[in-house]
Amino acid sequence: MEVFKVIPSGYCKGVVNAINLAKKAALDYPDKKITMLGMIVHNRYVVEALKHYYIDFIEQPKTTRLKLLDQINEGVVIFTAHGVCDEVINKAQSKGLICINASCGDVIKTQTLIKEAIADNYNILYIGKQFHPESEAVTFIDSEKINLITSVKDVDPLPSFEKVFVSNQTTMSILEISEILEAIRKKYPHAVIHEEVCNATRIRQEAILKLENVDCLFVVGDPHSNNSNKLKDIALKHGIPHVELIENVQDINIAPLKNYNRVAVTAGASTPTYLTDQVVEWLKSYCIDPNTEKPSINIHKIL
Ligand code: SF4
Repeated sequence: MEVFKVIPSGYCKGVVNAINLAKKAALDYPDKKITMLGMIVHNRYVVEALKHYYIDFIEQPKTTRLKLLDQINEGVVIFTAHGVCDEVINKAQSKGLICINASCGDVIKTQTLIKEAIADNYNILYIGKQFHPESEAVTFIDSEKINLITSVKDVDPLPSFEKVFVSNQTTMSILEISEILEAIRKKYPHAVIHEEVCNATRIRQEAILKLENVDCLFVVGDPHSNNSNKLKDIALKHGIPHVELIENVQDINIAPLKNYNRVAVTAGASTPTYLTDQVVEWLKSYCIDPNTEKPSINIHKIL
């Protein structure tokens, strides 16, 4: 069995920046309580590793960041890489919290484009995932003017708009986006379209689309990570027979491995390199000796 790592894969600049900001906060404010408003990036091992820096986090499914903020009453609050809306920043400041904004620059760019389009009287079609913090932060800009599009099915029921501006969550699948954009162009031929899949997401997905003769692809990533899930979707659409999203080496199901000739490993933009390398190294060892034990995870090696 041949095993190889897909290039590029793993950490993007936005994730590295967010983790560095969190670590810096721990150094700058050693005596203050530090809380992340949600998972700083969508990988539970990163969040766990940051607990060793005495950085806590709060997260509740389907609860807005604005509401979650009610649970932070002192110290430092870190806004996550997925972006934050002005209401949350204002509320945190009015509570007297020290605010650290780890929003990725690519996310901020999309938010700025949408704000400018709203000021110019456009109705916005925003392609994104419901309840994802990035789309939540965008829809908070103006819930009347912004229509969240989660699939092609959402396009048809929309009313006619005179001015239409289209953009999207940065971590969407390039295949899904082009399908939805086609439906939007048909309904609104006059729409102004800014496709904003970020470069990190795009080149990781394109690398999957270039794979040939691969029997199995392991995507190392957290189930909450949109870009990791989209890597899986893209691989399935590309026709790779077996695609699995795994969090770490322990999740690999050994039994089917004997059926594969070529196994590829990729990773979401928020997946620690250490976890991906463990998967690749163990698979290579398995090829030499199928009785090779899987290694355990050392949380101190994550960051
Ligand atoms: S995946 Fe893209 S948008 Fe998200 S943090 Fe990385 S570079 Fe930024």
